Amino acid sequence: MLIRPSGRSTDFISPSFGYGCLYNCSYCYMKRHKPDGLSISTNTGDILTAINNHAYFTPVNKPNQTHADYTTYDISCNEDFALHAKYHDWERIFEFFRDHPVAMGAFATKYVNPNLINFDPQGKIRIRFSLMPQHMSDIHEPNTSKIIDRIKAINAFIDAGYDVHVNFSPVIVEDDWLEDYEYLFDMMNDYVDYKDQVHAEVIFLTHNEKKHEENLKKHPETELHLWNPAIQEEKISQYGGTNIRYAKHLKPLYIDAFKALHERVIPWNKIRYIF
Ligand code: SF4
Repeated sequence: MLIRPSGRSTDFISPSFGYGCLYNCSYCYMKRHKPDGLSISTNTGDILTAINNHAYFTPVNKPNQTHADYTTYDISCNEDFALHAKYHDWERIFEFFRDHPVAMGAFATKYVNPNLINFDPQGKIRIRFSLMPQHMSDIHEPNTSKIIDRIKAINAFIDAGYDVHVNFSPVIVEDDWLEDYEYLFDMMNDYVDYKDQVHAEVIFLTHNEKKHEENLKKHPETELHLWNPAIQEEKISQYGGTNIRYAKHLKPLYIDAFKALHERVIPWNKIRYIF
């Protein structure tokens, strides 16, 4: 029942309701620990009890960038909860957060699950739709919902009672990446109605040597974008292993370019954090 501090997307990361994923994204950090299959925890009640106790006894300074009032918990760090919802007692989990005076649930997803819209979480569940240019998603996130469908779903999920943000992650730097993001931002401008409510988080690619080697065996085409030593450098991860990220002298330039474009096209989409 380990509840880990985060401070970026959410204040904390809950114990896993599921571990593994039925998607197969090229850049997934979790897949290098569990390449295949999905395990679903059977002790949902115990996990919710742990979150309940933690929320009551762990003071968090509010407001902060994760939420003005509630203590936020990412419930899906090792899976795609929306994709796997049918394997979970998801309504019980959502009801827990809906009715909790302190705790709020959140998760990122690449799947537009229409069943979730029949539930009204009264703003206590945040869905973060992950977005990247469609042609990159086709290569790196096979079989996930189309980017345009994730963007179009934003209004419907807000109407249903969800808090909705977007998650530009991972940002992969390659030829014409800024033109591709401009097109993506234009789509958001065209389709998002609730422009004052939808915030963003932006995370540039961190790759991993072990995952790189697995990808080379299974789908080498993904490594043309992910493995780019000319602009990347090594970093030893806090969880062990060698990670690869954009070089220290280049990343600030990429971040500035992303922010300038974002500010020009969709200034309403407040960036909560970018790194
Ligand atoms: S949806 Fe998330 S957990 Fe699933 S494979 Fe993709 S990155 Fe990994």
